[in-house]
Amino acid sequence: MVERRTPIPVKDAVNKIMDLVKRSGEIEYVAIEECLGRYLGQPLKADHDVPPFNRSPYDGFALRSEDTKAASSEQPVTIEVIEEIGAGTVAIASLKQNQAIRIMTGAQIPNGADAVIMLELVKEVQKDEKTYIQVKRKVAAGDNISRQGEDVQNSAVLLDKGTKINEGTVALLATFGYAKVPVFKKPVVGIIATGSELLEVDQALEPGKIRNSNGYMIAAQIQKVGAEPKFFGKLADDFDTCYQKIKQTLAEVDVLVTTGGVSVGDFDHLPGIYKKLEAEILFNKIAMRPGSVTTVAVKDGKFLFGLSGNPSACFVGFELFVRPAILSLFETDRVHLQKEQAILDKDFPKPNPFTRFVRSKVSIEKGKLVVAPVGLDKSGVVSSIAYANALLMLPGGTRGFERGMEVDVLLLNGEGSASLWGEQ
Ligand code: AMP
Ligand code: MG
Repeated sequence: MVERRTPIPVKDAVNKIMDLVKRSGEIEYVAIEECLGRYLGQPLKADHDVPPFNRSPYDGFALRSEDTKAASSEQPVTIEVIEEIGAGTVAIASLKQNQAIRIMTGAQIPNGADAVIMLELVKEVQKDEKTYIQVKRKVAAGDNISRQGEDVQNSAVLLDKGTKINEGTVALLATFGYAKVPVFKKPVVGIIATGSELLEVDQALEPGKIRNSNGYMIAAQIQKVGAEPKFFGKLADDFDTCYQKIKQTLAEVDVLVTTGGVSVGDFDHLPGIYKKLEAEILFNKIAMRPGSVTTVAVKDGKFLFGLSGNPSACFVGFELFVRPAILSLFETDRVHLQKEQAILDKDFPKPNPFTRFVRSKVSIEKGKLVVAPVGLDKSGVVSSIAYANALLMLPGGTRGFERGMEVDVLLLNGEGSASLWGEQ
């Protein structure tokens, strides 16, 4: 007799996972060149001012503003240039009355100077082997000086723990001398594809067989969320082989994702394997399309994600359930796909008994987000995944949707959301 399963709402399924996820992972140090896209394992705090000294933002002359008090285009004042400094060198002299120092962008403001006048605003003259500048305008104290600490003040907390490192973060890390950067370790996520019909990616097609596309897709999804995929191959639908391999693999990984074999068919062994492993099953049926058979279990504190073998269902199952479990380890709060509202650009007449996640494409038209499904909306389809940049999230219990309606979309390449429901 076929086992009867009770579907739970998607929200409950996600919450069951979120109740058990670890909210912080281990920390490791990586070279600054390697840290892009990782998550900061410590807050970033300034241990000096930026800039660390008053400096010139232009090429010009550092001078004393009071020496220019009487300057005008009719009566320029003449000031002696006593030294020249470029960025990285510090003037030897201190300015006295009617003295200036030629200064290049980035150089430290010399002692005694309180302003800089740009090169192009003065006339240089030579007399008796000395250089002078003629200044035709009054310069105010503080003009053209980049003040110490104007960018960042010493002791300021600049970035929180869990910040995803972007190009600007890398610049800040370098500014503060982080040759090695503390980041959250990438959890190792094991992948096992099950199915006697599966061929390896480099094998020629044979009757009745298909290539294992899910394994590679999942590996890519794992990489995209910042974890480390570890592929344990594909298995034929044989209970004992699958049981042994899954048991052994679980000991070697932080999280295990399998595809296939979670349904109620004769060769769907995963439910029996979870039972034999004495894993706690969080759910084995969700009120959603595709991926209603997605099963999630926990054994010794480790998640076992049993995703459907149907490629589109497998993809959606990963994004909804595996993604937040991994991202939570990095102490980031945007663990879910980014949820936005968009205008539906095509009728979607299919009745919707369950919440539906449709591979779709969003674009911006006249400043508004619009969305339309892409490809064939069947869970066994692989091509639509490649064309999608979003999942259209259509609530269950409806008779279909019409063009022009406002709908929820989950962006596949967004910054993420803290929640898929209610307030963000
Ligand atoms: P299953 O979830 O095992 O019942 O498989 C559902 C459908 O997905 C079947 O048509 C399988 O052939 C297909 N399938 C299973 N595993 C994979 C895979 N790794 N890559 C691509 N298709 C798969
Ligand atoms: Mg199968």
